[in-house]
Amino acid sequence: MSKEELECSFCGRKKPDTNLLIAGLDAHICDRCIEQAHGIVSEEATHSSTSDLSDELMLKKPRMIKEFLDEYIIGQDYSKKILSVAVYNHYKRLLQQDTDDDVEIEKSNIIIVGDTGTGKTLMAKTIARMLNVPLAIVDATVLTEAGYVGEDVESILTRLLQAADYNVDKAQHGIVFIDEIDKIARKGDNPSITRDVSGEGVQQALLKLLEGTVVNVPPKGGRKHPDQKFIEVNTENILFIAGGAFNGIDRKISKRLNLQAVGFSASMQEDVVDRDNLLKYIIPKDLKDFGLIPEIIGRLPVLTYMNPLDEATLRAILTQPKNAIIKQYEKLFAMDDIKFTINEEALNFIVKKAVEYKLGARGLRSLCEAVLTDAMFEMPDGNDKSLEVSREYVEQKLNKSTIKKLKAVS
Ligand code: ADP
Repeated sequence: MSKEELECSFCGRKKPDTNLLIAGLDAHICDRCIEQAHGIVSEEATHSSTSDLSDELMLKKPRMIKEFLDEYIIGQDYSKKILSVAVYNHYKRLLQQDTDDDVEIEKSNIIIVGDTGTGKTLMAKTIARMLNVPLAIVDATVLTEAGYVGEDVESILTRLLQAADYNVDKAQHGIVFIDEIDKIARKGDNPSITRDVSGEGVQQALLKLLEGTVVNVPPKGGRKHPDQKFIEVNTENILFIAGGAFNGIDRKISKRLNLQAVGFSASMQEDVVDRDNLLKYIIPKDLKDFGLIPEIIGRLPVLTYMNPLDEATLRAILTQPKNAIIKQYEKLFAMDDIKFTINEEALNFIVKKAVEYKLGARGLRSLCEAVLTDAMFEMPDGNDKSLEVSREYVEQKLNKSTIKKLKAVS
């Protein structure tokens, strides 16, 4: 057969009519057919990835979800349990399309209340890691109502699309963590005499997103690229997790608890109430009193709290999680063939300093950096292949460092 007579075995086009004809064992395929076939393959892949995800999730029962969280997060058992169930139910919802009865499972978006640094973001990250779905972490403080300086709420979905490498289907099954949700609380008890740009307006704008709607998302975000084509994203199956410190909410809880005690045996209440951790008793009404509008609270139906981190927890965070800070340093040093060890006393001293400087878990990392930077600078091209960190070593390095200054700002 002459070259000119060769043809695509799929569409029959002759070689001169194609840009490229690729030869197989005893067939040929042209560039156009390759493109078409590629389209079919990708479409199939996205379809099956959705059902794979649901299938896989149905295998991950809440107890297994919690076990996964346990590997990365110390303590916070209550929150882990609540989140495991919420995540399980959320993904069960994805399967409900297959049933045609009238019972519709509603979204189980989550709100986590807890001091900064107690692991709220870590919870969201770990869940996304387990499910292998894209995660966008956004800060509610930068959001404003459309038309004002700041980012429109749609920008949240731009982030999610970016996290999903612009795979819309993946993004539509992703997780959005909205941090500092408390910062968009309504200030003052007087709702709408003047429009509250940074607070209530943003809450209103978020409502639709949380509930499930189709949003036109600017793929590059912002208003800087007016010519870009919008991408439609359906938020129906996106799991939203909101987090916030809600500073001062304990006073509202305390007030409510005392009020309830009136008429009952007040002294008994005193015994039962854990005054050091009032967040335990949080109910949706407290969020309303704090300034979240009832509609938002309704769309974040799963409410949970994070415990403050005590010394024992901080100590465990240093070494226990799967990617614990100390394990990370061991790995870093090992890459230069350096054996890094740190003794119990040294670890306890770091924890004590984190508590003293009120740095919380986030501070553990800064403290370790301050202690180990010299060694990480000097040792890789030195002869010493072992680093044993003692309490004295820690003390000496911290005395030299500027980390104490952090104490002043915290
Ligand atoms: P938040 O979102 O509540 O402000 P993060 O999740 O960002 O707090 O946590 C701050 C740092 O502390 C992270 O590096 C995280 O890994 C660590 N951390 C906090 N709580 C825990 C915990 N319970 N277990 C393990 N690490 C934790």
